[in-house]
Amino acid sequence: MPTPATTTSQDSTAYAQRLIVVRDKIVATCRQCGRESESVSLLAVSKTFPIEAVDAVAAAGQRAFGENYAQEGVEKAIARPELEWHFIGPLQSNKTRGVAEHFTWVHSIDRLKIAKRLSAQRPTGLPPLQVCVQVNIDGEATKSGCAPHEALALCQAIAALPQLQLRGLMAIPEATADQTTQRRHFAALRQLRDTINAADTGLKLDTLSMGMSDDLESAIAEGATIVRIGSAIFGPRTYTDTSAIVAN
Ligand SMILES: *Cc1c(COP(=O)(O)O)cnc(C)c1O
Repeated sequence: MPTPATTTSQDSTAYAQRLIVVRDKIVATCRQCGRESESVSLLAVSKTFPIEAVDAVAAAGQRAFGENYAQEGVEKAIARPELEWHFIGPLQSNKTRGVAEHFTWVHSIDRLKIAKRLSAQRPTGLPPLQVCVQVNIDGEATKSGCAPHEALALCQAIAALPQLQLRGLMAIPEATADQTTQRRHFAALRQLRDTINAADTGLKLDTLSMGMSDDLESAIAEGATIVRIGSAIFGPRTYTDTSAIVAN
């Protein structure tokens, strides 16, 4: 009988295999809708998973990782500074400093106060923090994100901040298995981006951060440039109701 593999090596193989499946899905979807596969980048969302899981996915070639909770994310970013860290969760003003100092991107800015703090706290020796404005694209009352009609003014104000580089828009539409609904919400974010770029303000947003494990095909079909994939790479999380965690 062959010697059983250690748990660790079984885990790393599983992570590598799931990463390949996700990458293949991105490439296949791009091909179906006539997009270059290089136009979509993969953010591996490692929230709630230990640094060993990050290491296994990084060993399989993944460089960009997303985190939702400030303390957990900053700890991981400090532990693995060679990786590229993206903050994608709700951010309270007393938690901005660690994110400003250790992350490369923040996708979830929905008010100017947070943007100003991030800009002020971004060390001047580092490149500007790459940021997206989060938009509550489907008007779900409980969720974070600015209202669509507020997005242009918020983008203009953020673009004026010295240590931030405004890249685009992010959304987390309601989870639904209905692809028509998925695509309608993602299309709305793309159209909002196009409207902002067409306004006479000089803004040129190149990023649409949209699509998660269960709706990445719809997001890519509607123009996503960053998909944020957690469970399809890391496996199921032991808790999923991230909105319930207020004090991150
Ligand atoms: C958790 C999370 C993801 C990943 O979700 P999966 O369904 O596990 O792929 C993406 N974006 C945000 C903002 C998240 O909080």
